[in-house]
Amino acid sequence: MREIMKKKVSIIIPCHNEEASLRQLYAGVTEVTGALPDYEWELLFINDGSTDGTLQVIKELREGDGRIGYADLSRNFGKESAMLAGIDYATGDCAIIMDADLQDPPALIPEMLRWWEEGYQDVYARRKSRGKESRVRRRLTLAYYKLLQRTSRVNVLQNVGDFRLLDRKCLDALRQLRESERYTKGLFCWIGYRKKEIEFDRGDRVSGSSSYSMWALINLAIEGITSFTTVPLRIATLMGFVISFLTIIYIAYFLVKTLLYGDPVRGFPTLVIVTLFLGGVQLFSLGIIGEYLGKVYHETKRRPVYLVNEYSEPNETEKN
Ligand code: UDP
Ligand code: MG
Repeated sequence: MREIMKKKVSIIIPCHNEEASLRQLYAGVTEVTGALPDYEWELLFINDGSTDGTLQVIKELREGDGRIGYADLSRNFGKESAMLAGIDYATGDCAIIMDADLQDPPALIPEMLRWWEEGYQDVYARRKSRGKESRVRRRLTLAYYKLLQRTSRVNVLQNVGDFRLLDRKCLDALRQLRESERYTKGLFCWIGYRKKEIEFDRGDRVSGSSSYSMWALINLAIEGITSFTTVPLRIATLMGFVISFLTIIYIAYFLVKTLLYGDPVRGFPTLVIVTLFLGGVQLFSLGIIGEYLGKVYHETKRRPVYLVNEYSEPNETEKN
């Protein structure tokens, strides 16, 4: 028996088709864990429906290292859901969420732990540079964060990904948030707790390509807005109000004009413009309402966020 219980740190790694980078990631992580023997470690891989040999690689790594556990999801549920699976299974006093593609450097872990020991409960890494990315993508991302920040009550942080250390309290809080359409970045902010920001340079993927296409990002963006703010609904209402008001004035103007001067067949362009404009506004507003209605629809089904095919816990629970 040891006199002092070591604190346990879980590392959660969502993986989707990452067979090429896993070993390198594992090497990087073991280097860090080796230098920090005062902690007990748990490496938790979440295989998010990979179609390549990811699961095989994880199993092989687990053979050689008793600290490794994994959950194999029944299909690809997306990173947001995979992260929740990791948070559910993590048994540590704190957990660090990391990408499998080495874009989140393991070298940052010691610093995160230092702040955690100081009493911070959510130590998140902010990217100083964003690695290789197109200018359009960067611009759009920045504009998006600004919009989100202005319209929602939670302060969703810019340039902050999912790479962070979460105290047990944060993990327990996140486990309670079971919404199926998850925007985890916002949830981290929503739960609160003592936060500490550290900075890092985000590198490029070591292999493979980002699973997020432009389209997936647009979807995630809409997810973010609709999960955290109902301002678009408000805008639709206001727009409706203003336009109705203007229309009343316009109607009055036409009535008076017709009564005073009669009505030769003119004004066709006006008619077309007004019809098209109103039609457009109506469709847009309906779309917004539909977005929220769709959300309500999905949440009312109360489906689990992910399904697990197989879970293997780490072999070794404190062996020394
Ligand atoms: N990922 C996942 N499920 C998915 C897509 C991605 O678990 O459906 C994982 C992926 O394996 C990686 C992390 O989430 O560990 C980040 O993915 P990616 O590198 O594609 O995103 P980006 O770095 O471009 O934000
Ligand atoms: Mg990546």
